[in-house]
Amino acid sequence: MRHIPARMDVGILGAGPAGAAAAITLARAGRSVLLVDRSPFPRPKVCGDALTPPAVRALQELEVECKVRVKAHSVLGSIRHRSGAKDGVMSYDPLGIVVPRETLDALLVDAARQGGCTTLLGRPVEMRWPEHGPVFLRWDEGRNIREVELSCALLACGLPHLSAGLADRPAGGVMCFGMRGYASYFSLDASWLHFYPVGNGSSYVWIFPMSAELANVGAWLTADTWHRLGGRGERVWATMWAQVPEAGAAIAAGPESIAFQTYPTVTLLPAQVPCGERWMCIGGAAGLVHAATGEGISYALWSGIEAANWIVEGGLPGADATAAIQKKCAKEIGIYYAD
Ligand SMILES: Cc1cc2nc3c(=O)[nH]c(=O)nc-3n(C[C@H](O)[C@H](O)[C@H](O)COP(=O)(O)OP(=O)(O)OC[C@H]3O[C@@H](n4cnc5c(N)ncnc54)[C@H](O)[C@@H]3O)c2cc1C
Repeated sequence: MRHIPARMDVGILGAGPAGAAAAITLARAGRSVLLVDRSPFPRPKVCGDALTPPAVRALQELEVECKVRVKAHSVLGSIRHRSGAKDGVMSYDPLGIVVPRETLDALLVDAARQGGCTTLLGRPVEMRWPEHGPVFLRWDEGRNIREVELSCALLACGLPHLSAGLADRPAGGVMCFGMRGYASYFSLDASWLHFYPVGNGSSYVWIFPMSAELANVGAWLTADTWHRLGGRGERVWATMWAQVPEAGAAIAAGPESIAFQTYPTVTLLPAQVPCGERWMCIGGAAGLVHAATGEGISYALWSGIEAANWIVEGGLPGADATAAIQKKCAKEIGIYYAD
């Protein structure tokens, strides 16, 4: 582990795409950055692994797109979605890519390190943010407790309920469940993302090809539907896929293991995203995920880049910075909250 000084410019809690994008941008601009995560990297993440074109653009901005693309599978710039007899297309302009999050997130953390960022991974770290003044990160090193004083901090720990002061179900939020596995031997065109709405369309299953022979397969449903279907992973999974027989048939071999995650997609208004004088939330921690589709990597990347640029230009985190991030995400990606 590299020596960690007692004072640094920016601390970032969470090394997913939001935290890593901020770390890359800040470190390349010459700021001293400490990027921490409680998980050791590489680490898996329950996700569809699909990078939409705005996410790909963000990777270009971070100059890591080429490195990601060599490890990824390119898909057409559209999602093919099927509902009963209907077959439609949601268009994106350029190509999208599908890459395991384990790979993507590790590449981003590597890029941050190469840019000069210090990382502290696989260790619980506590953050203290007094009402005024610097923020502190503290961790146990066995024989002693280490503390670093930071001019400011970014909370990039993913789910909003893990961030400061946010309740599990913020007003206007929708609690969702996402499940995913990896299936081999699927019988579909590998150049498309296949997406199947279930029931009234607020739930869906997907098959996102990662090669000609391997696909990320998943299901997304609201908490109400989850509980109505019995609330047990395997049972919910089977019921969801049974409702779209053609999708089930396409992955006849079935996924070997299924992981699932409770995932609050929140519809926060700007004023509701928590922030302080010297800290703010980015990415999933700021509720930045599309409430209908669950797309969030693009929001994570762009919010990380924007927060970093804000700090590089001399701003401090806070309500104005949060508003700037939301504006940037709306411009680069589009609306992120449902009515
Ligand atoms: C089932 C499912 C499918 C999805 N599919 C897609 C998809 O196909 N495309 C897409 O664009 N989006 C998808 N998403 C959304 C996407 O996964 C998230 O929007 C994205 O991961 C958010 O990135 P982030 O960096 O904000 O947080 P994360 O990727 O969640 O990273 C947060 C990091 O913070 C760390 N952490 C948490 N708490 C602490 C703590 N207290 N201290 C230190 N570290 C901490 C975690 O270990 C983690 O590494 C999906 C989500 C789910 C649940």
